[in-house]
Amino acid sequence: MDFKKYYDEVYDIAKDIYMHPELGYKEYRTKDIVEKYIKKYLHNIDVQSFAKTGLKFTLPTKEKKPFKMAFVVELDAVYAPTHFHADKDTGAAHNCGHYSQIGIGLALFRALIEENIYQNFDFSISFVFVPAEEFLDLDYREQLRKNNEIVYFGGKPEAMRLGIFDEFDFAMATHAMGGDFKERTIEINSDLAGFLYKKYHFTGKAAHAGFSPFTGINAYSISTLFNVGIGLMRQQLDEKEMVRLNPIIMESDMGTNVIPNSITIGTDVRTQTVEYMKDIVKRVDDVAKGSAMSLQGQVNIETQMGYLPFLQNRYLSSFVMDTFNSYEKIPSIRNENPISAAGDIGDLSFMMPCLQVGYSGFAGTIHGDDFIENDPEFIFSIFPEFLLEVLKNMDGKIDKNELYHRDYREYEKLINDILK
Ligand SMILES: [Zn+2]
Ligand SMILES: [Zn+2]
Repeated sequence: MDFKKYYDEVYDIAKDIYMHPELGYKEYRTKDIVEKYIKKYLHNIDVQSFAKTGLKFTLPTKEKKPFKMAFVVELDAVYAPTHFHADKDTGAAHNCGHYSQIGIGLALFRALIEENIYQNFDFSISFVFVPAEEFLDLDYREQLRKNNEIVYFGGKPEAMRLGIFDEFDFAMATHAMGGDFKERTIEINSDLAGFLYKKYHFTGKAAHAGFSPFTGINAYSISTLFNVGIGLMRQQLDEKEMVRLNPIIMESDMGTNVIPNSITIGTDVRTQTVEYMKDIVKRVDDVAKGSAMSLQGQVNIETQMGYLPFLQNRYLSSFVMDTFNSYEKIPSIRNENPISAAGDIGDLSFMMPCLQVGYSGFAGTIHGDDFIENDPEFIFSIFPEFLLEVLKNMDGKIDKNELYHRDYREYEKLINDILK
């Protein structure tokens, strides 16, 4: 199988998408390009649309297979108006590398159908192109939610809600890696944090700052206590959980001659496990309540779910490691480096075993202003070729007992539980 013959076409598409980034649930142009490409090579394929810009199709098989795999690709860009290739109007930029996932997915698709090798696999292969992985542009998504067009801000939980993933036994995804690598590198078992958002509306009492400050209650002072409390609390956090808290002022309307009577502080709460997330959220709430109480003010608390922690499936990863060991074109692999970034593949991994393979080939920092690929041959030719080898390696070896499946109702229950 020579991936070089798909390279030019696939790389052109990826470059085009890189230069025309679109934010989540708005990836219409991107969706169109993907769909056209698929239909160019599989004329009669039934492509299912979902969640505004999502796409799903299954490579047709002659017989029913024991297992079903979803190859998952993310479509959206990041809001990064200062990126050097940001869209001037929307501020979108592909500095999370999702455009390259698309190129990789299309190269793999071509190789699979070229000689119909997938026909002999004991698992069927579906491609699911999912919108809106990045958690941003929330006013627009809130609007979609009010119009009953979506329920979840993240594309994967939204697809789960719509039953898009119900049929699958496991899922495979890829993601660009930020940072400088001396040699071509892939990565497995990089767990991601889960996160949720908190909003603390502190209220006090307005008064003349010079004439009678003693009759007021300073909401800004309460929020300062809150910030100090969180700072001191960090000592009591388990390092294994890599907790991240980032309190910021979200709303305030202050003048120097009035004791401020209201301020809203927001923070994300990131942890590696759901149990710890529930625990930390309660503790941060307590700091907020205690801060308000100590100055006779009030606090109103809001919680909004982000994504679940992503526990990479070690069993599926073992096929990647195995393949790597006998594959000569990739010299280096990283293993077991958890990070506190998050992704909605965490939500999908609640439903079924998921694997996300990282790939190098980029310069600059991920989500940074200078992020750009510097090794397209690796990204769009060697890496997809490697993925095909992983699939070949999985064929006939998947152990049913290593897989699990939970349905959407269980997911919904867990999320409600966390928000309680
Ligand atoms: Zn990202
Ligand atoms: Zn990403």
